[in-house]
Amino acid sequence: MKNNVAENIKNIKEGLPSDVSLVAVSKYQPIDSIKEAYDFGQRIFAESHVQELVKKYDSLPKDIQWHFIGHLQTNKVKYIASYISLIQSVDSIKLLKEINKHALKYNRVIDVLLELHIASEESKTGFTLDKCMEMLSSNILEELPNVRICGLMMMATNAVSDSKLKEEFLVAYDFFNKVKAKYFYNDNHFAIRSWGMSGDYKIAIDNGSNMVRIGSMIFGDR
Ligand SMILES: *Cc1c(COP(=O)(O)O)cnc(C)c1O
Repeated sequence: MKNNVAENIKNIKEGLPSDVSLVAVSKYQPIDSIKEAYDFGQRIFAESHVQELVKKYDSLPKDIQWHFIGHLQTNKVKYIASYISLIQSVDSIKLLKEINKHALKYNRVIDVLLELHIASEESKTGFTLDKCMEMLSSNILEELPNVRICGLMMMATNAVSDSKLKEEFLVAYDFFNKVKAKYFYNDNHFAIRSWGMSGDYKIAIDNGSNMVRIGSMIFGDR
C-alpha cells in the first residue's frame, strides 16, 4: 500500500477540532517521510529514543518542535536539553530534577507533561494518581524553577473495548480537572491533555484530549 504522508495528515486534520493539536509520532520513520510531513506544514514531531532524536534533530529543519514521548533515562537528558520543546513522559521526581538541572545550564525553562499510569498493563510507565498528587502537594516543584508543568499525558490499555478506553480517558480527564483546580488554577500553561493515538484518538478527543499523538496512521507501519 502506498503511503501518502501529506494526504494522511490532511485527512486527520480535517477531523480534528480546532483546539486539538496534532503531534506526528515519527519514531522509527526515515528522514524522508518526516520531511514530507514537514513540507506539508507539520511542525510538531515526537520521538521515543534519545539517540534517534539526536540524529533527526541534526538533519532536519530547526523550526521543528520536538516532543519526547518515551521512557527517558536521567543520564540522557543532557543530549536533548538544549532544544527539546516538550517532554511528555515525565514519570519520576528524579527525572524532573534532572531536567531542571540541565535546563538551568542552558538558561531555559523546559516544558513537561506528567505521565499518568492508568492503563492496566504493568509494563506501562508513569505516576499513579496517588503518587502524582503526593508530588504536587509536596513543595518539590518550588525547588525546580526551570521546569514548567504544562499538563498530563497518558496511554490507554492496548486492544480493549471502546467503553474501557473511554473509562480510562475519563479517569485522566477527571484527574486533570482536579489537579488544575487544586494546583494550577491561575496558571494558563497547565492546559495540555495528551491522550489518543492512531487507534483511539477519536474516543480520546471525545473524552477530554486536546493533544493527540499519531504515528502509524500518518507514516504507515513501523
Ligand atoms: C508510538 C507512540 C504513539 C503513536 O502510536 P501509533 O499507534 O503509531 O499512533 C503515541 N504515543 C506514544 C507514547 C508512543 O510511544
